[in-house]
Amino acid sequence: MRVLVTGGAGFIGSHLCDRLLEQGHEVICLDNLFTGSKDNIRHLHNHSHFELLRHDLIEPILLEVDQVYNLACPASPIHYQYNPVKTIKTNILGTLNMLGLAKRVKARILQASTSEVYGNPIEHPQKESYWGNVNPIGVRSCYDEGKRAAETLMMDYHRQNGVDIRIVRIFNTYGPRMAENDGRVVSNFIVQALRGRPLTVYGKGKQTRSFCYVDDLVNGIMAMMECDDITGPVNLGNPSERSIMDFAQQILSLTGSKSKIEYRSLPADDPVQRRPDISLAKQKLNWKPEVSIEDGLNQTIEYFKEKLELR
Ligand code: NAD
Ligand code: UDP
Repeated sequence: MRVLVTGGAGFIGSHLCDRLLEQGHEVICLDNLFTGSKDNIRHLHNHSHFELLRHDLIEPILLEVDQVYNLACPASPIHYQYNPVKTIKTNILGTLNMLGLAKRVKARILQASTSEVYGNPIEHPQKESYWGNVNPIGVRSCYDEGKRAAETLMMDYHRQNGVDIRIVRIFNTYGPRMAENDGRVVSNFIVQALRGRPLTVYGKGKQTRSFCYVDDLVNGIMAMMECDDITGPVNLGNPSERSIMDFAQQILSLTGSKSKIEYRSLPADDPVQRRPDISLAKQKLNWKPEVSIEDGLNQTIEYFKEKLELR
């Protein structure tokens, strides 16, 4: 099949491109390289089934493909808040463009949605049936509300035009090829620990997150694309929840770093707790995460060690 991956030069998208090529598909990677990098896909440069299109998703594009994975959108809070108008445009105009394309060529389209659609969740853990608790005018809303609107567009194109859609709600994911400067907690803590700098814990570190290794996540995304009897949304994530303070301690112990903890103020609207209920993914996709947090973090630490040493 010919598969379009938007955001394919990003962290998750580049792993997805690898896996699709391994399966023998032809891959068109569409990316404006805002948060993505050519380094993430450099190893694919001479692959006969791989093509990079430098294009901004908010502009329409005509392509002939069988499947679309719509991942283009900055994912880390500092990057999506850098140009919030652009973020919401990417989510709305970009998703509209991809839905128009999918409708025209009758391609199946999968939207990378997010646990952020649950906002600061009152229901815990979060099931797909929960409508969320999102601040529509806060600094995170360009992303949260953008992703919510993208889900709406997907559902309306499905109901109105019969477009073959899939929606996954991705929870915090980590692994090699995260950008070292993207400000997310996993890359921040590992890079800080490796450099012997203080680990920056926001607030008191009591807020919780549940971290999923990228290989597991890509398995889930591909299983969703291949599943015939579900549109979603389906949660994809690892339910092993921990506080940010415990996570900092774990990074210190895995890296053997002597870095101290430094407290910083908590960003606005930072969700207090987050853990996916993945019963639906287990039942419908026969999917669950396989990689332990220790193994996943060790792989990620090795990646950053190599990257920092190369520098
Ligand atoms: P990332 O920032 O590494 O990748 C996003 C990619 O999209 C980058 O390559 C970027 O250059 C590209 N992009 C951004 N705006 C674009 C535009 N207008 N036109 C073309 N390309 C554009 O982020 P990621 O972690 O790989 O996330 C991928 C997707 O998964 C995003 O949609 C994100 O919202 C979603 N997601 C990720 C996580 C996570 O923990 N990583 C959690 C929930 C949802
Ligand atoms: N966080 C932190 N220190 C950092 C970066 C993030 O304590 O250097 C916290 C952040 O406030 C949030 C959690 O870690 O509570 C996860 O942040 P991230 O940006 O990785 O993802 P998100 O908030 O989107 O879940």
